[in-house]
Amino acid sequence: MSSAEVLQGGLDLLAVALLALGIKGLSKIRSARAANRLAASAMGLAVVGLLINAHPTAVTWIWIAGGTAVGGVLGALTARLVPMTAMPETVALFNGCGGLSSLLVALGVMLAAKGEGLTPSLLVLISVGLSVVVGAITCTGSVVAMGKLQGWLTTPGWMMRRWRHGCNIALATGVLMAAVLTVVGSSDALWPLVIGASLLGIGLTLPIGGADMPVVISLLNSYSGVAAAAAGFVVGQRLLIVAGAMVGAAGLILTQVMCAGMNRSLTAVLFGGALGVASAGSKEHSEYTNIISCSAEECALTLEAAERVVVVPGYGIAVAQAQHTLREVARLLEKHGVAVTYAIHPVAGRMPGHMNVLLAEADVPYEQLKEMDVINSEFPATDVVLVLGANDVVNPQAKTDPDSPLYGMPVLDVQEARTVFVVKRSMGAGYSGIKNDLFERPNTSMLFGDAKQVLSNVLGELKVLGVGQ
Ligand code: NDP
Repeated sequence: MSSAEVLQGGLDLLAVALLALGIKGLSKIRSARAANRLAASAMGLAVVGLLINAHPTAVTWIWIAGGTAVGGVLGALTARLVPMTAMPETVALFNGCGGLSSLLVALGVMLAAKGEGLTPSLLVLISVGLSVVVGAITCTGSVVAMGKLQGWLTTPGWMMRRWRHGCNIALATGVLMAAVLTVVGSSDALWPLVIGASLLGIGLTLPIGGADMPVVISLLNSYSGVAAAAAGFVVGQRLLIVAGAMVGAAGLILTQVMCAGMNRSLTAVLFGGALGVASAGSKEHSEYTNIISCSAEECALTLEAAERVVVVPGYGIAVAQAQHTLREVARLLEKHGVAVTYAIHPVAGRMPGHMNVLLAEADVPYEQLKEMDVINSEFPATDVVLVLGANDVVNPQAKTDPDSPLYGMPVLDVQEARTVFVVKRSMGAGYSGIKNDLFERPNTSMLFGDAKQVLSNVLGELKVLGVGQ
């Protein structure tokens, strides 16, 4: 074994250890940023190790430098320019890029082998088949998911018919046959495999409803890991195998958590069609009656008199970027002796952990964040619930109306509290596009306006009342 190989082995080992530590650190908000850097450095070390051992030619160096520069600039621009609200679409796109990379690596190896008249080993052929299938499904599936989240794509009517399962089964059978032919060494089956798997990715993702998108995104994330691990076998890269397996496993665990959060089985999500969404985006509902609306002053007066306040953040707080103003309001109330906690629904916002990240940005103490199972039993003893830009996650229909598309999804029982204030701009619907009975409850008052503006007004009123001064 050459010294370069020993060095690469050592760097790989170190990278795996750092990667594992990085993934562990991501489980806590406080350590997440440092953990992300650690994991990125781990991948950097692995690349250095590879370059030391690979002895690239001058032309290869140009390709490597060019690719690094283009990827680096695109990554930096994305990180700087993409707003928090567009993060789910970005994550979907990144998953797709991961799938595409694995697909291209596998294709490159096969085409190079063909050009040189070589036959890859059986292990490499099996890995190529897996990389191409999972990579292509991840790539096209993620693009469709991004299009749906962005509102560019909706499920076409014919996709809701049962015979779409027949189409997908036919496609899957074709893909399986092409994969077997590829593994037994027929390079002619490679392109049909790529095309078939790409179509399958579209066929599987397009019928899935908007409300099920969180599950789909985390599943696609897991697929991108599996595709990367398979690509690791194709090019004989241990670190890629380990990192891909970690991403695959983490994505699968997250998928299970999201399924539990929405009370949906994975089978129902993947094959049940576009349930749980009338249309993505906000629809104004005119069928509401008996809506009570109130002013920031009334809200401030009620908050001043409260002992226990629970804040329920939702997608709208991310749109309004109201987390810092919310923190100021909470600080004043806490100084006044009010106990403030935050109820976190697993699918609030538009990506897993969206609300946790948003509140962490505003330095909300992590201990004040309560999971749905814990907080639901505390609502009856709560004086005031402040629902900020949340809608679907507080819709009682999910528990009371078997005909509701949300029926079965666990929700926050905010209506059990003494008083509920709902802050939103209009009577528009949430992501699921359906009416919310909470808004008509006698203990609910609506505070119409942009969440940041409304909270600034409430803050001003609290100051006028001398709360926390
Ligand atoms: P919703 O999408 O149900 O509701 C958000 C509400 O925010 C809207 O009713 C809107 O009402 C209001 N809003 C928008 N902008 C503002 C603003 N500037 N100020 C104040 N209010 C505003 O959000 P939830 O968080 O309750 O639920 C999340 C939904 O998204 C669930 O259905 C979930 O399944 C789905 N989803 C979740 C994903 C995830 O991973 N977490 C991914 C994809 C989908 P108005 O227009 O009247 O202001």
